[in-house]
Amino acid sequence: MSTAAGDKTPWYQDGLRFKCTGCGDCCTGAPGYVWVNKAEIAALAAEVELSVADFERKYVRKIGIRKSLVEYADGDCVFFDPESRGCRVYAARPRQCRTWPFWDSNLKSPEAWQATCEECPGAGRGKLYQLDAIETARKTFHV
Ligand code: SF4
Repeated sequence: MSTAAGDKTPWYQDGLRFKCTGCGDCCTGAPGYVWVNKAEIAALAAEVELSVADFERKYVRKIGIRKSLVEYADGDCVFFDPESRGCRVYAARPRQCRTWPFWDSNLKSPEAWQATCEECPGAGRGKLYQLDAIETARKTFHV
């Protein structure tokens, strides 16, 4: 059986479709983490015109040795704009957001991808991404 990790012919070798509908569902809902590294924190801080130290104080929490953006009590991302249902820091959004839905966890099996398509109305529809683009995204960030 093909698997995503380390297999020469992953099950999605013919590509996968994705076109964000802008529904905002991936930025809201159940609590979770948006992992950020040093470069991403610096880019986000610049985007909202804060120093890195001030940005970290306001928007970053430490989880073990990693760092995540904070979120509202209901699980919405701290940068989610409920009026436009868009991202307030879209230009500087972290790798985790840029590479959705082509994450290891969503690609590990056709069933996992099917579940992703049920969760995200943009997954499985629209633009066809070729294998190399999917793999580039998948290898950029592991979640
Ligand atoms: S859940 Fe999917 S369609 Fe909705 S905003 Fe997120 S990526 Fe776009």
